[in-house]
Amino acid sequence: MNNNTFSSLELTRYSRQFALPDVGLAGQEKLKSAKVLCIGAGGLGSPVLLYLAAAGIGTLGIVDEDTVELSNLQRQILYTTNDLALGKAATAKERLLELNPYGHIITHPVRLTHDNALEILQDYDIVVDGTDNFYTHYLINDACFHLKKPLVYASIAQFEGQCSVFNVKEGPCYRCLYAAPPPEGLIPNCAEGGVFGVLPGLVGTLQAIEVIKLILNLGQSLVGRLLTINTLSMQFQEWPIQRDPGCRLCVQHQAFDTLPHHMPAACTLLNVPEITTSEFAALKERGIDYVLLDVREEYEYAICNLGGKLIPLSQLPQFVPFLDKNALYIVHCKVGGRGSKAVKMMQEQGFNSVKNMRGGIVAWIKEIDPQMAVY
Ligand SMILES: [Zn+2]
Repeated sequence: MNNNTFSSLELTRYSRQFALPDVGLAGQEKLKSAKVLCIGAGGLGSPVLLYLAAAGIGTLGIVDEDTVELSNLQRQILYTTNDLALGKAATAKERLLELNPYGHIITHPVRLTHDNALEILQDYDIVVDGTDNFYTHYLINDACFHLKKPLVYASIAQFEGQCSVFNVKEGPCYRCLYAAPPPEGLIPNCAEGGVFGVLPGLVGTLQAIEVIKLILNLGQSLVGRLLTINTLSMQFQEWPIQRDPGCRLCVQHQAFDTLPHHMPAACTLLNVPEITTSEFAALKERGIDYVLLDVREEYEYAICNLGGKLIPLSQLPQFVPFLDKNALYIVHCKVGGRGSKAVKMMQEQGFNSVKNMRGGIVAWIKEIDPQMAVY
């Protein structure tokens, strides 16, 4: 058996797939001519990209600016221990071509922003959101609506996930589901959240299924339905979602440029006095007396530390009465969010000179001591 689109090796490779009822060679050809963009090549992006490459999607785009870190490997199955510190987009491309050399993989090793989103998305037929923050979910949703591209959305937190398909015909969009992001305090702090490693494997696989169904026009997609998954109770539930009559995007058609897409800092930062890593390094050298307070958790301290006094943020209120109010305190956490809360708390208790180290220990490692272990 042969045809003009596929070599005999490709026909063999995909034979179990096009043998399916309602797929056929015509379906396989549709997959080959499809262009799918996956934004984020992490926990969700890994299964999405692996399954879509394996299924024979002709063109896959990957947006990810990050490098592979040791703490990624618990869930980001595209990468191995040998890939540490390598760029995710390029490494993913290599892995996907090993899996299926017939695909065309385009890498976009950048952060998706309001300014580049439309340009990057415009060349694709379907967009997969594999990112992990509310602001990027809005940005991707708004760009997809503007460009009339179906969006296969998912989100995960700890043991729970959710998945839906937006911007298809009269279906709802992400803003219909969540008109506004939750208050900052309710968004789990970057280092506090944690994620069950198998969960993105499950939810990302659901996204890959929805992509293939959209391309082949198979079955019923998740348009108008939010699927929620709780892996602890092992319950899958679905919730109808309709267009919100007040939706500023898909009902009121607010222009893309006027929608808010400010990127958040990785953590909620309060406006408190700061010290940069280089200022802190200079302060150490000058032999000035100070107390270094590390407000991370014990396990984080065990991975890397600057020799500070460890008082996790949650325990700080108990310890504050025992600290000298007149000393100079330099506070740090992983990237700055918890540190800023600690500084605020201490200021409110009458401490006169407390500073948060900007960017936390991650900035210190990056800027001052790259030999240290990072997470
Ligand atoms: Zn909407």
